[in-house]
Amino acid sequence: MKSIWKSEVELSKRSELKGSLQVENVVIGAGMAGVLIAWFLQKQGREVVVVDADEIGGGQTGNTTAKITSQHGLCYDKMINKIGKKQAYLYALANENAIHMFEKIIKEEKIECHFEKKPAYLYTVTDDNVAKLRKEMNAARMIGIDAVWIEGERISELPFKIKAAVGFPNQAQFHPLEFLKHLSNQLVVYEHTKVLSVKNKTVYMENAQIKACNIIFATHYPITNIPGFYFLRQHQERSYVVALSNQKSLNGMYYSIDEGGLSLRSAGDYLLLGGGGHRTGKCICRQKKGELLGYSFLKNKVKLYYPEAEIAYSWSAQDCMPHDDVPFIGRYSLFQKNRYVATGFKKWGMTSSMIAAEIISNQICKNRCEKNNIFSPQRLYFCAGIKNLLIDMWESVSGLTKGLVGPSQKRCTHLGCKLDWNPEESSWECSCHGSSYHKNGGLKDNPAKYNLKQKR
Ligand SMILES: Cc1cc2nc3c(=O)[nH]c(=O)nc-3n(C[C@H](O)[C@H](O)[C@H](O)COP(=O)(O)OP(=O)(O)OC[C@H]3O[C@@H](n4cnc5c(N)ncnc54)[C@H](O)[C@@H]3O)c2cc1C
Repeated sequence: MKSIWKSEVELSKRSELKGSLQVENVVIGAGMAGVLIAWFLQKQGREVVVVDADEIGGGQTGNTTAKITSQHGLCYDKMINKIGKKQAYLYALANENAIHMFEKIIKEEKIECHFEKKPAYLYTVTDDNVAKLRKEMNAARMIGIDAVWIEGERISELPFKIKAAVGFPNQAQFHPLEFLKHLSNQLVVYEHTKVLSVKNKTVYMENAQIKACNIIFATHYPITNIPGFYFLRQHQERSYVVALSNQKSLNGMYYSIDEGGLSLRSAGDYLLLGGGGHRTGKCICRQKKGELLGYSFLKNKVKLYYPEAEIAYSWSAQDCMPHDDVPFIGRYSLFQKNRYVATGFKKWGMTSSMIAAEIISNQICKNRCEKNNIFSPQRLYFCAGIKNLLIDMWESVSGLTKGLVGPSQKRCTHLGCKLDWNPEESSWECSCHGSSYHKNGGLKDNPAKYNLKQKR
């Protein structure tokens, strides 16, 4: 199912790379992160080439909801407690700066991408979560965000009563592919050029190779396991979106902190409703326990709150959730100075991609030090991530061992975990690291690089 963004915008087609190239910088992945990183490098006079396994914006960026915000769910109170006030402050500052940078680029480049400044609201509809929300507001204020508190009022543009909400002013939303189209038109990009391996300073594709001084992995989920070990440091979660036609435009963007809550934003006459998410690979087992997930969940909400509305588009996407809730942006590993990574955006990849572009381009062009980077992949916020690490270890062990005896099962081409069927998406998904495959076995989402049954 195509997202509203992909249905509305056609990006110019690029050819596959064939043969050998030598360049200063190669960026692998032409999503929001890869395009922004490449564009920043080129702006600073660097030679750069982008390669993508599919098409520009064809990955998660084409399936996002594209809110540009520093409000990342309930994050600041947790961050202050787990990694400290200074780190939380730097995180908020980086994300606020990213919003300004989007605005600046859009203005300077005169990009028509429906960029609109709007407040972002975190809300709850249950009494039980009001205290959590208040803590989040206090935390946000403590680190300099001008958060506002709303309680016991009805937000008239929402079809349900809220108990409380925290608003962040001066946030934004846009059309991600209109933006990407403008920037990528200025770049050398090769599409349908899947990277299969990277050795020393060379990137290998089926029909081509590129030798580069710097290699930047902007593939959403990193495609090489060792070193870096990102497959042990994050998992993936899938979420669903529907677009309802002929709806009144919302003045704000909304995100629920409740179990089974909704994310809302407008896009012209369309209203986007998001929710029904789950760990990738875990849809069917949660549905068997009676939970409503995916499109079934969203359709139910539409029936309840917008009974007259028509669903014009529906789609889903997934994102990488780091154990300590901080994206990985910077050097790929301590041992490889010429490799960089941007991943772990935890469903907030618009501002995170902008942060990645600034950090990585500064590291390459100005030799900026990794030490001052709170997003550094070499950080160790061990205590902040221990619970998630244990859950992921359990998932990996059970995924690797499940179905080894008995009738043969579909297994992931990444590390061999058992795949589970997702009836909402009609796809095969891996709960270990989040690779997914179409019904016919074609690869849908990485870190896997191969289709099912494809010989290497
Ligand atoms: C439902 C949902 C809603 C969201 N809403 C928001 C939101 O409102 N605001 C927000 O900030 N964030 C949001 N996000 C998160 C955001 O969409 C992502 O974090 C962001 O799009 C990721 O961008 P990316 O460039 O890292 O990845 P992608 O856009 O996936 O780009 C990666 C690219 O790498 C390519 N690639 C992969 N493997 C290879 C290979 N081997 N060789 C060559 N190329 C390769 C892929 O083809 C792809 O084009 C949302 C996420 C979800 C799941």
